[in-house]
Amino acid sequence: MFDKILIANRGEIALRILRAAKELGIATVAVHSTADADAMHVRLADESVCIGPPPARDSYLNIPQIIAACEITGADAVHPGYGFLSENARFAEVLGHHGIAFIGPKAEHIRVMGDKIEAKRTAKRLGIPCVPGSEGGVADPDEARRVAAEIGYPVLIKAASGGGGRGMKVARSEEDLESALATARIEAKAAFGDDAVYIEKYLEKPRHIEVQVLGDGRGGAIHLAERDCSLQRRHQKVWEEGPSPALNPEMREQIGGVCARAMQDLGYTGAGTIEFLYEDGAFYFIEMNTRIQVEHPVTEMITGIDLVNEQIRVAAGAPLSLRQEDVRVEGHAIECRINAEHPATFRPSPGTITYFHPPGGLGVRVDSAAFQGYRIPPHYDSLLGKLIVHGRTRNECLMRLRRALDEFVVDGVDTTLPLFRTLVRNPDVQNGLYDIHWLEEFLKTGGLDVA
Ligand code: ADP
Repeated sequence: MFDKILIANRGEIALRILRAAKELGIATVAVHSTADADAMHVRLADESVCIGPPPARDSYLNIPQIIAACEITGADAVHPGYGFLSENARFAEVLGHHGIAFIGPKAEHIRVMGDKIEAKRTAKRLGIPCVPGSEGGVADPDEARRVAAEIGYPVLIKAASGGGGRGMKVARSEEDLESALATARIEAKAAFGDDAVYIEKYLEKPRHIEVQVLGDGRGGAIHLAERDCSLQRRHQKVWEEGPSPALNPEMREQIGGVCARAMQDLGYTGAGTIEFLYEDGAFYFIEMNTRIQVEHPVTEMITGIDLVNEQIRVAAGAPLSLRQEDVRVEGHAIECRINAEHPATFRPSPGTITYFHPPGGLGVRVDSAAFQGYRIPPHYDSLLGKLIVHGRTRNECLMRLRRALDEFVVDGVDTTLPLFRTLVRNPDVQNGLYDIHWLEEFLKTGGLDVA
């Protein structure tokens, strides 16, 4: 096992990793920018190192500084969390060259899944169902027309290097196709420095359903059921829950089994998420995230399994502590991402938290690095904390969530709490009747009544 883990991240995920390390008896090192000198992850770690000024590229993304921090403190492993360097294959390799373990998958798997065309090709080879579309990149309008005619309109043109839901264009008919292709390539070049694009069937009303997997890199791999993350704004997840209200146990076993077998074949190490669009009873792979995800607590609450603990153990060379039959889904969990943003305009609201009262009680978990008097710096994403609630049934979970949201008080900055208080009372949400466009339409039609 490792002696000392350096956490190359900040905010709530840095605390989450600290907690797992402490429970394993492993010493912890926090790194921080000058803007985060007083942050909670710095206070709770055994040691801390300042790695640079506030902009992330000079601190949390600064590989030489992070390696230096490992060497100064003698850390023998790095946990990257999510975002920042978590899906940077070169970072994993450089750590390896310095004899430091990367708590995550092999660099080659990060690289394959980071390239959308390569990822889809690999998924297909591993027997994971994919969205019908082009075999690889499509540059020429004639080829685009041929592919689109074959799969049928509408089609979606996606950037091979795309991310964060950017660089996508829908073509509803052959007349739209040429200009959509040209625009997508120009936008992809401008946003990602790469104009490679590919074509997929555009699904009109899908849900976003993702399967959590764990592998030990030696052929052992299991799935931990799914999360439904269909409530999204600008392709960003807002509310995540598990199990999905759209699946029954047989469908869960079927898609979970496909994913677990694929990860066994790949020899995947650590935690990963295989994301699908789900429509009319069929699953379509969209991407794989080779890291722990923001919404991982949903899975922890319904399985009782500590995913970060498993990540650390397998990175240290241990086999998985569980077999597939040890994983049992119990009850229902919902996570709300509470952002320091205006609930209607979503304008970030950095500033000082003058009062902070998180909810508590049975089945309530708050993952947050915020506290009364904390000054939210303007340099990073606006996630203030996550409220995760568990109940024996979805209905009990919704009632408990409503109660917990009403208890949660954050003063001094705007938060998205009012949005969740509205959503938890909405009949479509209560009945689980939503697709990936539902929230955008709800917001557009003035569903949220806040000043
Ligand atoms: P990114 O890496 O940019 O997040 P994804 O491939 O994960 O790209 O897609 C982001 C989002 O775009 C999905 O969650 C979904 O909302 C939408 N999307 C992607 N592919 C399709 C498709 N074929 N049909 C309809 N919507 C899609």
